[in-house]
Amino acid sequence: MSIQIFGLPVSRGVAIGRAVLVASSRVDVPHVFIDPTLIESEVTRMAAARDVVAAEFDVLKRDLPSDAPAELAALLDVHQMLLQDDALIGSAAEWIRDRHYNAEWALSAQLEVLARQFDEMEDAYIRERKADLEQVVERLLRSLSRGLPSAVPAPGMASHDFGGDEPLVLVASDIAPADMLTFKRSVFKGFVTDVGGKTSHTAIVARSMDIPAVVGARQASHLIRQDDCIIIDGDAGLVIVDPSPIVLEEYRFRQRQSELERSRLARLRHTPAVTLDGERVELLANIEMPEDSPVALEAGAVGVGLFRSEFLFMNRAGHLPDEEEQFDAYRRAVEAMKGLPVVIRTVDIGADKPLDGMSASELRHESVLNPALGLRAIRWSLSEPSMFRRQLRALFRAAAHGPVKILIPMLASQREIRQTLDHIAHVRRQLQDAGKPCGEVQLGAMIEVPASALTMPMFLRYFDFVSIGTNDLIQYTLAIDRADEAVAHLYDPWHPAVLHLLASTIAQARAAGKGVSVCGEMAGDPAFTELLLAMGLRSFSMHPTQIASVKQRVLRADTRRLAPLLPQVLESDDPETTSQSVFSPAGAPASAPPLQAMRAG
Ligand code: PEP
Ligand code: MG
Repeated sequence: MSIQIFGLPVSRGVAIGRAVLVASSRVDVPHVFIDPTLIESEVTRMAAARDVVAAEFDVLKRDLPSDAPAELAALLDVHQMLLQDDALIGSAAEWIRDRHYNAEWALSAQLEVLARQFDEMEDAYIRERKADLEQVVERLLRSLSRGLPSAVPAPGMASHDFGGDEPLVLVASDIAPADMLTFKRSVFKGFVTDVGGKTSHTAIVARSMDIPAVVGARQASHLIRQDDCIIIDGDAGLVIVDPSPIVLEEYRFRQRQSELERSRLARLRHTPAVTLDGERVELLANIEMPEDSPVALEAGAVGVGLFRSEFLFMNRAGHLPDEEEQFDAYRRAVEAMKGLPVVIRTVDIGADKPLDGMSASELRHESVLNPALGLRAIRWSLSEPSMFRRQLRALFRAAAHGPVKILIPMLASQREIRQTLDHIAHVRRQLQDAGKPCGEVQLGAMIEVPASALTMPMFLRYFDFVSIGTNDLIQYTLAIDRADEAVAHLYDPWHPAVLHLLASTIAQARAAGKGVSVCGEMAGDPAFTELLLAMGLRSFSMHPTQIASVKQRVLRADTRRLAPLLPQVLESDDPETTSQSVFSPAGAPASAPPLQAMRAG
C-alpha cells in the first residue's frame, strides 16, 4: 500500500528510486562503497569477524561460574545460533556483493531488515529476540572496528556499477555533514532524513549536490524499508513510498519537465549578470572542497564567495589537517578559479557541524547545553591559537597563487575582532621572517549574529568587506535552532526583524564604500532576488547549481523600479506577500525567460 510522508523541502526536483537505508545502529558505523575488486576480501573480513565473535561466545560460556543461572548459558546459545544463522551473515554478504557496501554497512542494513521481521512476529518471546540480535550485531561491528579497516571507498561509482540501472535514494535518520561529503558525487539521486531543518548543514550539502531532498520527515527511516520504491518530491517536501502506477507516471512526467527547464537555464551560463538598467551583479559560488572550484566555473560563477573550510577538518578521526595540507587545498581551489577571487572562511566547527561526531565543546570536554550558542566558529579558533595560526599561515601562503580573501565567521565583539587581528599580524610577521612567499589579502567579517549587524560602524572600521550569513542571522535573530525540525516552521527569512537587519547592514556597508555580499541560503533563493537587489545588494554567493535561476531573475530586474518599493516591504507586517505584489510587475510570470537571455542563448 502506498504511503505519504511529509517533511521539509530542502533541495528541489523529483527523484524516483530504490531506498537505501543507512541504519541508525547504536555503534557508529562507517558507510563506504567498496571497490568491486575488493568484494570478496570484504566478505572474508566479515566472516573473520564472525569467527572472532563465535570464539568470544565459546570463551564466555566456558568461563561461566558454576553457580551462574542456567538462563545465561541458554542466552549465549541463542546468541551463537543467531550469529551462525545464514539470514544474518549470508544475507549481509549479498548486500556487499550486490550493492558494494562495506561489511559494517551491510551488517547494519541486514539488522534493519531482520529487526522489522522480529517486530512483526505474533509470539512475544520471539519478538524479544530482536534485542539479542542487536547485541550480536554490535559485537560483530566492534570486532570489525578492531580489525583491519574497511576497503577503499569508491565515491565516484554510478548505479550501473551495481549491476542495475535503477537509481538509488538514501534514507536515514540523520546524515552528519561529514558523511554527506562521502556521499557527494556518489550514486544517490536523492535523500530523505528524519531530522534536520531547512538550513541545517546536511540540507546545505544536499543543495550543493543538486539532488532532490526532504529533511525533517520524522518517521521516514522507520516507515521505509530497504529496497522500497520511493518518490522524493523535493519541491513539496513529500515522500511517497510504493507509489501507484498512475502517480509514478505523473512524477516521471514532472522529472522530464524539470530536466528541460534545467537545460534551458544552463544556456544562461556565460551571460553576464546585468540588470535591465545596466547594474552589474556579481554571482559567486559557495564551495566545500577544492574539487568544487571547476563546478563553480562551469556554472558561470565569477568567483568563490564562500569556501567553507571546515569540511577539510571533518572525517579525520581527530587528526586536524596540518599547514601543508591546508595550503595545498587552498592553493588548488585558488588555481582552479583561474584568477577569479576566492573568499575562504576560517574554520566554522561546532553546533550542527561537528568534527567526527564531536562538537568543538565536546572536544574540549566541556558540557554542551546549547551548541549553537557555544564554542563554535571564531570562538573555537580563538580558543585553539595554534590551530588558528596554522590555518592563517596556509591561507596567506595560498594567496601568493591567486586572489584570496579571508572571511571570519561569527564575530560579535570588538574583543574578538582585536584578538583575530593580532593573530593575523603575528602570522604575517612569522611568514615574512621565514621568507615564505605570501600574498596580500582582503579581510572580511561574516555578519551572522545580530550583535554584529547592530554595530556595523565598528565592523566597517576594521574590515575590508562583510558577508552576511543569513542562515545564522535568522537563527540568532529569531532564537530558532536552524537544525531542529520541531521549530522549523518558525524559521522565517521573511520576518521583518531579519529584513531590517539585512537592509541596514547592506546600506551601511555601501555608504562606507566597503564590499558587501550575502552568502547564506537566501542569496540562492530566487524568491529573494528582487528584494535583495532593492536593498542595494550587488554580490550574491550561492551553490553553483542555483546561479542560473538567480541570474534569470537578475536579467529581468530593473533596480531603478525596485529600490523605491523597498520601504513598502520593510514596513509591512507581512513582507512576503507585500514583496510578491509590489516587486512582480503584473502579467510577467517569474519563470518567463528574459529577452537578453534568449538572445545570448
Ligand atoms: C550562514 O550562516 O548564512 C552561512 C553562510 O554560514 P553557514 O551556513 O556555514 O553557517
Ligand atoms: Mg553561518
